[in-house]
Amino acid sequence: MRVHRIAAIPGDGIGPEVVEAALTALDHLSRQTNAFRLEVDRFDWGSKRYQREGALMPADGVDTLRAYDAILFGAVGAPDVPDHLTLWGLRLAICQGLDQYANLRPTRILPGLSSPLSKVGPEDLDWLIVRENSEGEYAGQGGRSHRGQPHEVATETAIFTRAGVERIMRVAFSQARARPRKRLTVVTKSNAQRYGLVLWDEIAAEIATEFPDVTWDRMLVDAMTVRMTLDPRSLDTIVATNLHADILSDLAAALAGSIGIAPTANLNPERVAPSMFEPIHGSAFDITGKGVANPIGTFWSAAMMLAHLGESDAEARLMRAIEVVTADPTSRPRDLGGTSSTREVTEWLCRALDCDA
Ligand code: ATP
Ligand code: MG
Repeated sequence: MRVHRIAAIPGDGIGPEVVEAALTALDHLSRQTNAFRLEVDRFDWGSKRYQREGALMPADGVDTLRAYDAILFGAVGAPDVPDHLTLWGLRLAICQGLDQYANLRPTRILPGLSSPLSKVGPEDLDWLIVRENSEGEYAGQGGRSHRGQPHEVATETAIFTRAGVERIMRVAFSQARARPRKRLTVVTKSNAQRYGLVLWDEIAAEIATEFPDVTWDRMLVDAMTVRMTLDPRSLDTIVATNLHADILSDLAAALAGSIGIAPTANLNPERVAPSMFEPIHGSAFDITGKGVANPIGTFWSAAMMLAHLGESDAEARLMRAIEVVTADPTSRPRDLGGTSSTREVTEWLCRALDCDA
């Protein structure tokens, strides 16, 4: 039997609720298929640890994670800790430390769900957003001077390297090639940002020559929000910078029905370090502890994790079970118009897995 070592980092807010739900589902799946087993270690890293010990994770935390085959992450962020501390102290530290430079965000309208845009149906919206995850606007470069004075200045420098842009562009073109429509849209703002994003445009054209079977085009990010809203069907795979893709993928998730269902893979495509899988939603303290968090985004992320681990049969089973759950109003969680609690959604999912066995 294949054994995969998983590091689970439930984190803050609803993170532990949705991660436990996903681990229950994965455990059910592995018993059922008998083809693989997950060895899970849980790490209590996050804002509570920060308040206790002054750091979200231990100094050698990133290195500890290198021993695992994959990481399942919940959410990080708490009302009483500044957001930039929690983000940089845990999530970004892991993504950058393990060079998970490709962030993949599939978005589609699952059975039974609908877009808030009445004209948009499941056949219109099936996207894969590829986000540059290691540099760009979130490179953490900049500084502040003359703090608190009227002439205070803060700089936030975006870094785009040829190597960084080439590698994300290759991932994007390869992902586009692997999908039926073989279509890629490269998003920039190269009319206003005349250095880094002109480099993006140039490198896109260069890498495109390696993928003659992929049809590609370019969009400015502002026009892209309009196209996603008014002409979603014309899009398939989308690649954008760290900041732009962060914003576009929230829009995408909302257009597909709810941020509660949207998954993310932070990939180290060369597999020299583990990749990390997480729902795109945050810690959502307004519903924490009420047992109503939608675990489907974490189920879907767990399915992406299975695919990455080579368990494609289990991935397909889990995706089919997710679709059974969303298709039936009685099994849906509250944010999708149903009444099921996190635990009930998980039970429905396990039942759907049993029926598929
Ligand atoms: P962050 O600061 O990390 O973005 P957040 O606490 O602002 O986190 P979001 O993920 O941005 O939370 O979500 C915004 C709101 O959407 C939440 O406050 C919550 O009401 C709702 N929401 C998010 N995720 C879920 C979920 N899994 N199930 C149900 N509702 C959710
Ligand atoms: Mg938020």
